[in-house]
Amino acid sequence: MIIKDIQTIEIRIPYTVLGTAKTDAWGGKHWSTADALLVRIETANGIIGWGEAFGYNSIAATKTCIESLIKPLCIDQNIENIQEFMTTLQKKLHIFGRGGPVIFGLSGIDIALWDIWAQENQSSVAQLLGGSDFREVDAYASLVRYEDPKTVSDNVKHCVDLGFEYVKLHEIDLRAITAARRADPNVRLMLDVNCPWNTDEAIDMARKFQELDITWLEEPVWPPEDHLALAKIRKEGGIPLAAGENAATLKQYETLMEAGSIDFIQPSPTKTGGISTTSEVFELAKKYNIRVVPHSFYEGPGLLAAIQTSAALSDKPLVEWRFFDCEDHLYGEEIVPKNGKMSVPNGIGLGLSPREEVISKYKV
Ligand SMILES: [Mg+2]
Repeated sequence: MIIKDIQTIEIRIPYTVLGTAKTDAWGGKHWSTADALLVRIETANGIIGWGEAFGYNSIAATKTCIESLIKPLCIDQNIENIQEFMTTLQKKLHIFGRGGPVIFGLSGIDIALWDIWAQENQSSVAQLLGGSDFREVDAYASLVRYEDPKTVSDNVKHCVDLGFEYVKLHEIDLRAITAARRADPNVRLMLDVNCPWNTDEAIDMARKFQELDITWLEEPVWPPEDHLALAKIRKEGGIPLAAGENAATLKQYETLMEAGSIDFIQPSPTKTGGISTTSEVFELAKKYNIRVVPHSFYEGPGLLAAIQTSAALSDKPLVEWRFFDCEDHLYGEEIVPKNGKMSVPNGIGLGLSPREEVISKYKV
């Protein structure tokens, strides 16, 4: 495929959540819209591929990286092997960042190129990755931070009523987390605390969570790349750990797994290198017997990438569903979980095409 053009498109879709949500826990800005950065690639023979680079507060920086650093290296290139091409780009750009907006931007390009490659082969991305027998995957409802125990409890009950078997909290207060468990004794609860504690604090908190039957504790320690601290917390805290959305590129995942620090690994297609890196993490994780559960707190092409890779490469797919009540959806209702499951779209490429009317209505 020869790349003829690359465009970046920002969309902002208003959303609500049940109760008062603390969305300024991430990046210090309250979110009233779900902001996404779409990457549209057109080939010389007219095929359109869609990718997504990590959004929210980072969009302006990532857009600049794509337009000023990445796009000039891509235009008119004839790509025969996406992984090799992405490695070439990573080598050319490595002094500007091995994570963050540079890799977010590369992730968006990579996802769009896989979409194109699959379309050229009249197959889905999952078929390119070896095929899948799954027609649907388990979705876990990923809640924002509410802080108030009653609101946490209400939201967990609401998720269970909707059919979710798995619910992830972003709480850090023990009372709020205990309220979630009391809301339902059987729901699988995961807990993402977003790197607040030092090693001793994290061990202490992990021990307190033991009686709450937490499926995994995610990113308990600051800084997230302290893999040896994570290994110590895993050993002494006595509950399963998850991490990986803040790692990027295959080598960082290998280091994370090699350290014996986690039970679940979470590559994020829009943050870590796209479908190339995510699928490589799935392969590598087999060696360490670690379950891959992609991070996908978004619902554009990045979510489709998480579904396609999980359907093809996991024995027991589980994919994150951002629990927002969005005014509209890029892919319509088809993408929204039913009874706690997301369907694996069987169209060519990523499986679904974005709705043009949604892009034109919510484009910035
Ligand atoms: Mg997380």
